[in-house]
Amino acid sequence: MFKKTQKPPTPEEVRDYLVDKFPTKIARKRAKQIVVNSCEDDGSVPEILSNTRTTPGVITQRGCSYAGCKGVILGPVRDILTITHGPIGCGFYSWLTRRNQTLPDSPESPNYMTYALSTDMQESDIVFGGEKKLKEAVREAYGLFQPKAIAICSTCPVGLIGDDVHAVARDMKAELGINVFAFSCEGYKGVSQSAGHHIANNGIFAHVVGTKEEGVPGKFRINMLGEYNIGGDAFEIERLLKACGITLVASFSGNADYDQFASAHTADLNCIMCHRSINYVAEMMETKYGIPWIKVNFIGAEASAKSLRKIAQYFDDPDLKALVEKVIASEMPEVERVAADIAARTTGKTAMLFVGGSRAHHYQELFKEIGMKTLAAGYEFGHRDDYEGRVVLPSLKPDADSRNIEELDVHPDPEKFSPRKSDEEIKKLIAEGLSLHDYEGMMKDMEENTLTIDDISHHETEKLIELWRPDVFCAGIKEKYVVQKSGVPLKQLHSYDYGGPYAGFKGAINFYRDIDRMTSTRIWRHIKAPWQVNPEITAEFAAA
Ligand code: SF4
Repeated sequence: MFKKTQKPPTPEEVRDYLVDKFPTKIARKRAKQIVVNSCEDDGSVPEILSNTRTTPGVITQRGCSYAGCKGVILGPVRDILTITHGPIGCGFYSWLTRRNQTLPDSPESPNYMTYALSTDMQESDIVFGGEKKLKEAVREAYGLFQPKAIAICSTCPVGLIGDDVHAVARDMKAELGINVFAFSCEGYKGVSQSAGHHIANNGIFAHVVGTKEEGVPGKFRINMLGEYNIGGDAFEIERLLKACGITLVASFSGNADYDQFASAHTADLNCIMCHRSINYVAEMMETKYGIPWIKVNFIGAEASAKSLRKIAQYFDDPDLKALVEKVIASEMPEVERVAADIAARTTGKTAMLFVGGSRAHHYQELFKEIGMKTLAAGYEFGHRDDYEGRVVLPSLKPDADSRNIEELDVHPDPEKFSPRKSDEEIKKLIAEGLSLHDYEGMMKDMEENTLTIDDISHHETEKLIELWRPDVFCAGIKEKYVVQKSGVPLKQLHSYDYGGPYAGFKGAINFYRDIDRMTSTRIWRHIKAPWQVNPEITAEFAAA
């Protein structure tokens, strides 16, 4: 343990201390998942081990594959009726925990997000099979709501007993005459919720995208991929796009509905927010329909401005470029005024972010804008390309867990494939500096001698806080009260606690203000763990 009188531990010493208590084999593995950040002249960063199984017994932040499919990807979709085939707990605990918001077209338009539907499997279903019960559930749900589409999500026991959810979906599709599709997203698939994202997106791509001929009209038509409308983020992004004259055809899947997915193939550009959860959909859409993609980030005022400019550069239209500049110029003064006021109190303060597959990267922008430094960051379910950039993709080898997730065999659609830009136009855009089909990852943007930690455990979290005591820690609900008991405020970046939106320019202002409140209050220095104030259990050796 480090004493207060010693000089602060180096990042290498911190890494060694974090893994110190683990058995040798586990410590060796964890050390490969904890990297001291540095960037070579050629832009390369150290290799990090990621997307690997969490060691049993280590408390992880991760969720299951089912949670990634049903909770993350399908959770924000308002008019696909999603039925969880499984015990009631799986359905209940994946229901609206991310505070996704939605805005139906009219008060009469369907919105099923406020319902949690489940087959509520019992022991007899496990013994005798649950397919009959599932069919009854689909019929009952259709009778109650008459939705356009029904999705069935599988939980662990469904895979273990071998219920054929896809056969049930096919039968129900034929019987009811609506789109019914199923996901084999059993919780044990893959190493984290990332597998569930992949399974969900593959299913939406295979069963829904391309089934509606026409999308919303517009001159500059885009899809937003990997934006989940937490705390109203999508509303702020939609406001900005509208002000710039950019039409949103489909959102995957914040504030989304079925028709958006069905017509997504008509857009002219895919913009990826969360690289981890959805980059493969952009690739499949390019192969099948000819739609190029760019990476964007609407978290952070500067990042939002950069993203709008990137979209305008892609469409290469002078009027669009001028309007984008006008919108940025009208939004920035208020952002800069608030940031300057708050930075007077936050400059020099520190943050740690352990969340998601892109969020730990994106939110560093917001902290920078108010003068705060990120000491350590990492993903729960990121892969090497999310950390080190897509440059590492050719060197990634599939393992047993990744082979467990179906790879769709995608080819150009004989009727719907149409390259949106010619090869010459693409070459010209790249020559002019547009970064197409690329993401450089989180590590390159982090300061030297900070730490990147993949799949951080609760033990490591406690030790990290003990050594480097940040002014704010960003993670999820499972970490919130553990961290706050050590006197450090925790901002939830899965659900935003009660705040948001944090996207775009107005969202940036909201975030600065929330972080200012959290890091400026004196309440945290008065917090002591109960056992520090009043040790309840004391014992002495009995006299012989
Ligand atoms: S791990 Fe399995 S049982 Fe647990 S919530 Fe996920 S699907 Fe349900």
